[in-house]
Amino acid sequence: MAKTKCGRKQLSLATRSVHAGESRRRFADSLTTPIIQTSTFTFKDSREIEDFTRKGKDHYEYGRYGNPTVTVAEKRLADLEGSEDCVVFSSGMSAITTTILSLVQSGDHIVITDDSYKKTLEFCRSYLKQFAIDCTIVSFGDYEGLDRAIRRNTRFVFSESPTNPYLNIFDLKKLKAVAERHKVLTLIDSTFATPYNQRPLEYGIDLVLQSCTKYLAGHNDILAGAVMGNRSLVDRIRNLHKSMGGTIDPHCCYLLLRGLKTFPLRVARQNETALAVARYLQSHPKITRVYYPFLESHPHYAVATAQMQGGGGVVSFETKGDLNSARKLIDSLQLCFVGPSLGGVETLITHPAMVSYYDYTRKERYALGIKDTLFRLALGIEDAGDIIDDLERGLSKI
Ligand SMILES: *Cc1c(COP(=O)(O)O)cnc(C)c1O
Repeated sequence: MAKTKCGRKQLSLATRSVHAGESRRRFADSLTTPIIQTSTFTFKDSREIEDFTRKGKDHYEYGRYGNPTVTVAEKRLADLEGSEDCVVFSSGMSAITTTILSLVQSGDHIVITDDSYKKTLEFCRSYLKQFAIDCTIVSFGDYEGLDRAIRRNTRFVFSESPTNPYLNIFDLKKLKAVAERHKVLTLIDSTFATPYNQRPLEYGIDLVLQSCTKYLAGHNDILAGAVMGNRSLVDRIRNLHKSMGGTIDPHCCYLLLRGLKTFPLRVARQNETALAVARYLQSHPKITRVYYPFLESHPHYAVATAQMQGGGGVVSFETKGDLNSARKLIDSLQLCFVGPSLGGVETLITHPAMVSYYDYTRKERYALGIKDTLFRLALGIEDAGDIIDDLERGLSKI
């Protein structure tokens, strides 16, 4: 077990997911985290106001500027990711857009990899242009291209690992080496990994982003997001957050805290189930290709197993047949729910060509590698055998 700076034994991630960042004595001796459901906070007298405004004494002021339930979630997430500080937001996209905007001004340039989350790419490519911020999109895995793309006015490189839907793995050591040479910041959306499977800050990455909607909350019932990093960067983001206003509701934040307590249990199981399902699919005659970073056949297997604890709960695969057989597979499933998102307790399956890329032409989709027979399976916590039986039922129809 690792030692902390003061020489005490570092508690394990499983323990910290339940306890970190919170005083043991809580309001009314409650065991669980109190939900402070208020939009504003009060001052006892003029002295308390002045202690707060002039002497910087800790006091909550207004809901958009901070809330005690939210503070607990921020401290816990910072602890789990190994960062100095964290800001929690109302969604993953709120975390991503607020973070990006806090780091750039007109005339700046940023670099992002091409298979980043669709809405992140859209924001960088289209909206940042309105503020004269230039964006270069680099092919994922092209480390030389990345090196060439960085200019004098580049502020940061943004990437994801693992990515959607091909579970590509970014070599964080190589990313850090390129960024260090050019003295630019590095941002990693680590949603598909969670701090259970990967901790980018240990590789020198500057900021880690999480859509807590997925594994961290883990029950497919809330949206939330977070950014983690050193105090001075996170301070900048927190300050802009107060203006942008993507504030999480305290009750919703309680559900995030509740989910966090069990996330290591769930992710450990999702790692196991996903690997079992990936192996089953790989040996199936109706399957032409399986994408899972912890399968030896994955192009990034070596990097994945070196920098990650497990491959995560998402498996993508291509079947034989065409769009029509893809419909048959979807229509015969009885256990897997058909829908977007991932990381919750229920297994979800999505067909990217019909859902996320429905507005692209077939030619555009194929240029991005989104085939008509591609599926993304996001495993829940059900029994692996039951999920395999469900898939077998669907695949027998092809
Ligand atoms: C879902 C997701 C997001 C966006 O998060 P929301 O909570 O839906 O706003 C960003 N990045 C990745 C990798 C995601 O999976």
